[in-house]
Amino acid sequence: MTESASQRRHIHFPPIPNGIDYLRDVIDRLAYESGQPSERDLKYAVLHLQAAAEVLLKARLHEEHWSLIIAKADSTNRKKFEAGDFDSASNAESIRRLVHVVGLEISDEDKTTLFDLAKTRNKLQHWGLTEEVNAVLKRAAKALDFLIRFLDQYLLPNIDAEAKEAVADDLDEIRSGLTRIKSYVNSRMNRLRKSDLKGHEEATIRCPDCQQFALIVDGATNRCLFCPRIWEDPLELASTYENAFDYFPAPGDPYEETLVDCPDCDTLTLVLEAETVAGKGAVPLCFNCASVQDDLEGCMRCGKLYRPTDEEVICSDCFVSLG
Ligand SMILES: [Zn+2]
Ligand SMILES: [Zn+2]
Ligand SMILES: [Zn+2]
Repeated sequence: MTESASQRRHIHFPPIPNGIDYLRDVIDRLAYESGQPSERDLKYAVLHLQAAAEVLLKARLHEEHWSLIIAKADSTNRKKFEAGDFDSASNAESIRRLVHVVGLEISDEDKTTLFDLAKTRNKLQHWGLTEEVNAVLKRAAKALDFLIRFLDQYLLPNIDAEAKEAVADDLDEIRSGLTRIKSYVNSRMNRLRKSDLKGHEEATIRCPDCQQFALIVDGATNRCLFCPRIWEDPLELASTYENAFDYFPAPGDPYEETLVDCPDCDTLTLVLEAETVAGKGAVPLCFNCASVQDDLEGCMRCGKLYRPTDEEVICSDCFVSLG
């Protein structure tokens, strides 16, 4: 054993190298040159990615002040903290403190990435991981991307040269591993766009699981070709889709119903603002009928959407009830 290796065995892992060590493990499990990661690799990659996120976010909070990583600062003291006798702040609260107390900039997209990761980890702990390899890879790439930026911007500039040297090799491996994962994701998407997704642009939406524009809404299998998850229940797909991409409604935005009953199939599957590959902006797409419903009007009397046959301004229900 070399001297440095034997020394390292005795070092108590401080937060930054500890977080980087988790990330290195994630890369070793996911960024293969060839072949696919095993189910066990996926499981530990997700767990360790989440652990890395927690450790690294808290490392920055700790730099500001140790009390910031404690859930309730009013019921603790330095002695308890040093003894490890405290509950640490939740992930969401840590992110809030980084933004509102420390003053860092974390974009909504990055917050979404972190919440998605935490959700995947929770799912894994309670139900086991059912997601496909590609969905996990895509999510892992986004989370890794954020954590490397976070390290570069907010953590590495503040550590001394010796500590930097100690993590340099791991960081190199993590960066090149991330590039491999991203290029795998990109080349797979390019292939799909030119082959199986071709001709389905009007009904291809972003998959709530892997977040790629690769889910073809056909009302039957609703299959994402990237991850490749199947959504047999259009109701579940519609509500998941509605919730997946809207964690942060703009403050003061009036609440607007964007998932409504479809007048054709009478099911709560008409997503009024679906974004498709066709690139026409947000279109009303029924996930059950699998068709774009852009010829609907709002009933003047009850507000329900209906398809006018003549130039009537109320829906047929209201027409009947008026006699
Ligand atoms: Zn997918
Ligand atoms: Zn419908
Ligand atoms: Zn009506």
